Formats: sequence, C-alpha cells, structure tokens
Amino acid sequence: MSEYHDYMVRAFAEEGMIRAFAATTAGLVEEARQIHNTSPVVTAALGRLLTAGVMMGAMMKDQQDLLTLKMDGDGPMRGLLVTADCGGNVKGYPFEPVVLIPANEKGKLDVAGAIGKGTLTVISDLGLKEPYVGQVELVSGEIAEDIAYYYGNSEQIPTAIGLGVLMKKENVLRCAGGFLIQLMPGCPDEVAEKLEDRLRGVQSVTDFLRRGMTPEEILQFILEDRTLKITDRIPCQYHCGCSKERVERALLTVGTKELKQMLAEGKPVELSCHFCGKKYSFHKAELEELLLKSGNESATNGACGT
Ligand SMILES: [Zn+2]
Repeated sequence: MSEYHDYMVRAFAEEGMIRAFAATTAGLVEEARQIHNTSPVVTAALGRLLTAGVMMGAMMKDQQDLLTLKMDGDGPMRGLLVTADCGGNVKGYPFEPVVLIPANEKGKLDVAGAIGKGTLTVISDLGLKEPYVGQVELVSGEIAEDIAYYYGNSEQIPTAIGLGVLMKKENVLRCAGGFLIQLMPGCPDEVAEKLEDRLRGVQSVTDFLRRGMTPEEILQFILEDRTLKITDRIPCQYHCGCSKERVERALLTVGTKELKQMLAEGKPVELSCHFCGKKYSFHKAELEELLLKSGNESATNGACGT
C-alpha cells in the first residue's frame, strides 16, 4: 500500500530497565479490512489486535517462531485470531466480519460490546516441543487492557499498552498504531513510578496518531528522550504465507472420515484461506491421493502409540 508506510520501532530506556515498542499500522489494517470486508467496529478490533501482534511478535527471536493471539467472546463478533512472526509480518481474521452495533457511551466504536465476555489466549510457538500457551479472562474487551492484564497476570511483566485505529469517513482507515512498554525484572521502584506518572498524562493513542506523531515521537513523549535508545526500525506488513501444500496439511488434519465424505460428494473441494481469502481447489484425484496419505499417517501414529 503506497499511501501508508507501516513500521515499528524497538527501543530501550533507563539503561535497559524498560523495553518499548511503537508501531504505525494503517496500511496493514486497511489491507485486513479489504480482505475481510469488515464493518467499522470489527476493523477497529482486528486493527488493534494486529497492531498488538506486530509488537508482541517482535519479542520473539527466531524467524520460525510464531505468535498467535486469539480472543473468544460471547458478543456478536465471537472473536478474532491474529498470528505474527518476529519480523513484522502479521495476519488475522475476525470470526464474524460484519457486526453492526450502536456506539458505546463515549460515542466510540463499541469493540468491547462486539467481543463480549470471554478469554484471551496467547500461544507462543518457539520451535520447542510444545508451544507455550497462556490464557486470561477478558477484563475489558477493549483489547489493550486485556493484553496488559495478560502480561501482568500470566507472565508477571508489568506492561503498558495503547492501541488505536482511526477511521476516515465511513470505513476507510485514517491511521492505526500503538505502543507497548514493559518493565524488566529488577526495575527500580523510582523508574516504575516515573513511568506511571508519564503514562497518567497520556490521553489516548488515537490522540497521538491524529496529531501525526510517529512511533519514535510517541516513545519520546512517553519515555522522555533522555535515556531512550531506539535500536531497530522494522517495516511491518500484512503477510499470508499460505500455499496449496499448507492447505493440504490442514485438510489432512480433518481426518479420513471427512475426506471420504468429500470424495463421495464427487465435487471438487474448494477451500479458502482464513487469513487472505485465497481459494484452493482439490479435484477428485488429489483427494484420493490425500486420503491415501491420511490413511498412512494414522497408521504411523498408531504404531507410535504402541
Ligand atoms: Zn492465505
């Protein structure tokens, strides 16, 4: 998207006692909006979670590592899923792309109302045997508060996070972005207190964005540039690495019975990628081959079990 230049910055402050991220993400949020054809409140929710994903993903170290953020709720949107890597690539989808509900009492898009009560699940797949899974109840449904609560509760890392998505007229993105600031273990109380003071003066991220502040300027504002060191500037984008091979693997996980059923129906099977909408079709011969593979795989699994 030529109109937007999405990127994030990674920074430290107070001699490494504070680590910080800030991002501008309007381009990737607009791309998500176009792919999923979301209504405004869903655009806002997905945009906030994508922005969080970009920054949280950057905490991982390896190119293969994958972060998944999943929100499940009892509201009309039902939830959202976002995945991100460590290099600024992010993608996601809402469970229900079109939700039309009245604005909240502040006159803003009612993201919490669209999501409802539920849970936030954070899955970090760091290439170990088992991914690390953490889950918390949603404390607000406005996403930023829920993620801060997750870090405080599940990982014991005091975290301040702001996420904002601002629409031009009807449903076209004007700006989106956010910041994420964490206190590292051993951070002295006076540093924490100073940061709290600064954060009290922060109105909202959308306010920063509306004023055209860059990620660097947002961090300079919150952290005072005296000790701030910006270490990286990373382009970020909506990226889906799907391929027929990957979709095949997903098909294999549905199991032999379902595959047989698809074959029996005799039609080519068309699957579309949840993240980017790209369509993949499998004709009869391909399904038969898959069925063969799936049979073999369950046989192997059985053998492992004994
Ligand atoms: Zn895809």
